[in-house]
Amino acid sequence: MIEFLPMNALGRITAMPTLPEPLRGLRELAYNLWWTWNPEAQHLFEQIDPVQWKRFRKNPVRTLLDADPERLASLAENPAYVGAVQATVSSFHQYLKARPKRPPRVAYFSMEYGFHESLPLYSGGLGVLAGDHIKAASDMGLDLTGVGMFYHEGYFRQELTPEGQQREVYEELRAEELPLSPVLKDGRPIRVGVEFPGRTVYITAYRLEVGTVPVYLMSTNLPENQPEDRALTARLYAPGQEIRIEQEMILGIGGVRLLRALGLEPEVWHMNEGHAAFLGLERVREKVAAGYSFAEALEIAAAGALFTTHTPVPAGHDSFPFELVERYLEGWWDRLGISKERFLALGHEEKSYGPVFSMSNLALRTSRAAGGVSALHGQVSRAMFQHLWKGLEAEEVPISHITNGVHTFSFLHPEMHALYARRFPKAWATELHNPAHWTVERLEEDELWRVRNRLRARLVEEVRERLVEQRRRNGEPPARLRAAEKVLDPSALTIGFARRFATYKRAILMFADPERLLAILNGPLPVQFIFAGKAHPKDEPGKEFLKRLAEKIRALDLEDKVILLENYDLGLARALVQGVDVWLNTPRRPMEASGTSGMKAALNGALNFSVLDGWWAEAFNTTNGWAIGDERTYATEEAQDHADAQSFYDTLQYEIIPLFYARGAVGTPSGWLAMVRDSIRTCGPTYSAQRMVGEYHQKFYAPLARRAARLLEQEGAVLKEVAAWKTLVQKHWDGVRLWAEVLSSAEPPLRVRAFVQAYGIPTETLRVELVVRRHSGDLETLPLKPSGQEREALVFTGTYQPTRPGSYTYGVRVVAVHPELSNPREVAFVKWAQPGVEELVQT
Ligand SMILES: *Cc1c(COP(=O)(O)O)cnc(C)c1O
Repeated sequence: MIEFLPMNALGRITAMPTLPEPLRGLRELAYNLWWTWNPEAQHLFEQIDPVQWKRFRKNPVRTLLDADPERLASLAENPAYVGAVQATVSSFHQYLKARPKRPPRVAYFSMEYGFHESLPLYSGGLGVLAGDHIKAASDMGLDLTGVGMFYHEGYFRQELTPEGQQREVYEELRAEELPLSPVLKDGRPIRVGVEFPGRTVYITAYRLEVGTVPVYLMSTNLPENQPEDRALTARLYAPGQEIRIEQEMILGIGGVRLLRALGLEPEVWHMNEGHAAFLGLERVREKVAAGYSFAEALEIAAAGALFTTHTPVPAGHDSFPFELVERYLEGWWDRLGISKERFLALGHEEKSYGPVFSMSNLALRTSRAAGGVSALHGQVSRAMFQHLWKGLEAEEVPISHITNGVHTFSFLHPEMHALYARRFPKAWATELHNPAHWTVERLEEDELWRVRNRLRARLVEEVRERLVEQRRRNGEPPARLRAAEKVLDPSALTIGFARRFATYKRAILMFADPERLLAILNGPLPVQFIFAGKAHPKDEPGKEFLKRLAEKIRALDLEDKVILLENYDLGLARALVQGVDVWLNTPRRPMEASGTSGMKAALNGALNFSVLDGWWAEAFNTTNGWAIGDERTYATEEAQDHADAQSFYDTLQYEIIPLFYARGAVGTPSGWLAMVRDSIRTCGPTYSAQRMVGEYHQKFYAPLARRAARLLEQEGAVLKEVAAWKTLVQKHWDGVRLWAEVLSSAEPPLRVRAFVQAYGIPTETLRVELVVRRHSGDLETLPLKPSGQEREALVFTGTYQPTRPGSYTYGVRVVAVHPELSNPREVAFVKWAQPGVEELVQT
């Protein structure tokens, strides 16, 4: 049963206790998430009441609300504390002042955001990435605005029974206890509406400050909405297709309307995952309402839009039955001035069971830039969406990639931070993406090892505390509670594995051969593991994995050295990545689009031990960590699991354990620390969110804004030309005919003549190409030369001389390309000569 609190928009201000004058700055710090990556600010709040601080999951607003006035009064008289408040507030002000906004104006839409564990508006990697993107955009002074949702029950807190059974607990989040400010318009909480079947649902919003970047979080929990509608934004990823489409309409359509109500005019619109794709419809609708044709409106809207896709797992791409879309978006085709069929075609995807409306397809069709989140994922995505660009080869599909990164100071332990600050140049702290600043050779072996040992010991303490709490809550007997206080060894090699328990991540891979595992774990050199992770509430196989893991740990009597902790969130993630020696990841390649937890671990001096998937396929260099398996694709999942498990045992037993325990004269593991330094040097700068956001700015934001502006120059001359050209080509393309004559075959050089009939299409926008694929996989495209006209057809000719021996496949195609397109492959007007494929062998 969900209980609704009356909206009390202004109550927050009166609820906050009056802080003594010298402590006024605390309030300002509490209301900007800058504190989440500034330990000195966190320390100020912690000192008010360390117990409450921990209990409130390090929520400063809550800590201030509940602070004992006497305690505050005494802190106000403590010169050291007051001095620290002033110094911290002053560095916060400096941070804000040093960042004038850099164009273009970008709106970033995401269904989830992971900023901190006290704000549980995220489920996993996607949200944490969005949070890191916002934080880095602030650090870099980008003119970015975030749009998302305020879920008043957030995402669940996970409890695990001793059997590993997951329980999902939802807690009511109160906006006034969080760093959220109601967004006001004319003195009242702002309202925008979105039409749902038979009603309008109203949306209000809260503003969250993340450094210099505002994030607007929307909520439908308003008295004027019906009770079911008030609950729409209660939970992240509430199950059911109906609530899913409703949430996505609120995010996409409501989000655009909210920004308009605030008077904002973003130049670039970034869809973080397909959830936000309805924003494209609303932006097209705005332009149609302003008098543009649908074709023109689509061109303008798409010109400034960018789509980041985050997973190769098909279930991760939302799609809705046509029936649902027709019901929820009824009337939209009229508003856009198109037929219902044309409207549905915007998201059309043909599944084995029939057509569906795919949010990813909609996002791709309403944007002019798209990318995956690692090089390998870019490649997988091009293959996955190749069918939307019929006639293009997979590598020509205009989906590129920007590899993810993590927000350095949100995950770097303060002691490591201090060490780096001592050993790296001053510029390091502001130019984190620059490899030259990561002067790891200056990290002394003994100081590095000392810090690593302290961080591991701190993690062991944290694990014990959490485990005692977990067992106490489960009502376990006193002997088990005492046992929990002694698990793990603070000086033993510690391996962490924490992530969502989706089955493709194969959390139980290391149990594939229990005898082998026991031989390693009960060997002379101690090794210990810490596991954590949530399964999605509807993911039964994922939950089954949790249970099997718990069962195996118990059955093999490993409970003091293989620990399964509940409630993996940002707080636990930080503790783990900061304290472990090795970070383990075992996804089934290529299902892990990027992965980011390993980047956080590397930053803190842990070594990655991982399948060569996602980011690790790029980062691994043989001396900065270890690979599990190789870059092969296996015939069956069983074969892959078996091969990867063997690889896991071998590397752990013969490389990782011996290296960790190979201590030099002064007791430091030199070989190990050499790898640690290499890992920090190669991963720290490249996998920082600063590098990532810098790439987004340069590769996508700036060019999209430029082109969007160009389309509208001279009263939209370019826009009209492009839209008219596309309409024209579309109309005549079916009638285009192409045939090719191969003048020499089998023996190089290859000489071809092609004939094209393309009535109604401007000749200068036609290109005829000879496409050659070497059997190694490389693709070459050669334009054929226009060579006059013969019997009603345009003639094109060309010669191809292979430069290397080998066998080649080739074909001839005609494409239509306008010079003002965002890129030559923007639209797939492609027709191949038939029969298209003959073999050419160069000896
Ligand atoms: C970093 C992070 C993730 C993402 O990690 P993966 O490597 O993608 O598994 C998920 N959850 C939390 C809490 C994180 O901090």
